Amino acid sequence: MIGTGILKGMAVTARNFVGSYFDEERLITVQYPEERNPLPENYRNFPFLLYDGDDPHAGLRCVACKICEKECPPQCIYIVKSDDKKPDYMGKPQFYPKVFDIDISVCMSCQICVEVCPFEAIKMDKDFELSKRERFNHLLQRKEELSKPNEYYHSICPTEAADVDAKLAAAAEAAAKKKAAAAPAPATSPAPSGSSSASASS
Ligand code: SF4
Ligand code: SF4
Repeated sequence: MIGTGILKGMAVTARNFVGSYFDEERLITVQYPEERNPLPENYRNFPFLLYDGDDPHAGLRCVACKICEKECPPQCIYIVKSDDKKPDYMGKPQFYPKVFDIDISVCMSCQICVEVCPFEAIKMDKDFELSKRERFNHLLQRKEELSKPNEYYHSICPTEAADVDAKLAAAAEAAAKKKAAAAPAPATSPAPSGSSSASASS
């Protein structure tokens, strides 16, 4: 019958409206911004850059390889590579971004930059309160605003961050083992003259 769907919908609304006075579970709205629903771990918004330790410059994982800039579908990442190098988390000298901007008015939260980064240096944030009154420059997120510590990553995505830490630790351990295996063996001191005859006579 025409209109049955509307009546059913109104019945659900009425049940929730009246029920909400007796059962908190039926309160299906929250009083934002005073109240907030917890965000699921896989919720994502715009990307951010990760750094280890306390120093956003020294610990920045990004090596300015520009893969994310190239692969970003709407081309909203802009990177300028440094002229000098700094050690990465394994102590290897690497370039770093002198400039790293993301235009959040263009970013479509596709996460492709995260997928293609070989250095676990860029991840998706959950911060969605980024609206600005000003247009243009204020919608550009600079390296300084984008850089956040690994502890922050753990606080928003604990499972994923623990997996990434384990992966990086395993890579660092494998690299250390490879380096140790490639190192020349320590030179053995020549045997003192007459030692062979001494052992033969014993
Ligand atoms: S999430 Fe997508 S659109 Fe946004 S910066 Fe990354 S690759 Fe570009
Ligand atoms: S975030 Fe990753 S892919 Fe992008 S430039 Fe830095 S290291 Fe390269």
